[in-house]
Amino acid sequence: MKFVIATRNAHKLEEIRAIFDTPSTMLSTGESLDVLSALDFPNVPDTIEDRDTLEGNAIKKAQELCDATGLMTLADDSGLEVEAMDGAPGVYSARYAGEPCDYENNNAKLLRELAGQNNRRARFRTVMALARPGEEPLTVEGKCEGTIIDELRGEHGFGYDPLFVPDGFDQTFAELPAETKNKISHRARALAAFSNLWMSIA
Ligand code: IMP
Repeated sequence: MKFVIATRNAHKLEEIRAIFDTPSTMLSTGESLDVLSALDFPNVPDTIEDRDTLEGNAIKKAQELCDATGLMTLADDSGLEVEAMDGAPGVYSARYAGEPCDYENNNAKLLRELAGQNNRRARFRTVMALARPGEEPLTVEGKCEGTIIDELRGEHGFGYDPLFVPDGFDQTFAELPAETKNKISHRARALAAFSNLWMSIA
């Protein structure tokens, strides 16, 4: 069975594929899935992510690629929601410091906004949407709660990882080994929720 992940982002693909390879996911059930990505469809244009919620963007991305390929498609949209900033940057996390997406500028802007702020609570949230030909799209979500520190730490990962310390750890996502992040991350939890959804509809 062919299955498409609606992203061209190498970091995300790596994380999602790694999660598919761990024993607790649906691939371990013996189901043989041919996991493709948007990279396998270079002629299909990227979705314009213009919805004002993570759910809206995830559904739009999954549905457009599903319509273009006729294949079942999984899309995700993630964001960092900072409590003291009323959930910002949220759906605008990628272009927080302006277009095009620049992780360094985004992190610098976040540090500026939170300067002197005692409430450092934040969460990463991922919404995953599954689009299937002829069916209504379905969504699940995953969250990872933590805090924003006041300096960049670590070299792994991407995005806001050097500033985010997940609850229960002392290291940032960028300091933790990828295998650890892949177990506790918002994407891992959304994929686990998706795996359950998959069992219920397969
Ligand atoms: P996307 O929807 O997964 O592309 O995420 C949007 C933006 O949220 C990214 O450009 C990153 O800035 C941020 N983001 C999402 N997931 C992560 C993560 O696991 N670590 C750090 N930043 C992330």
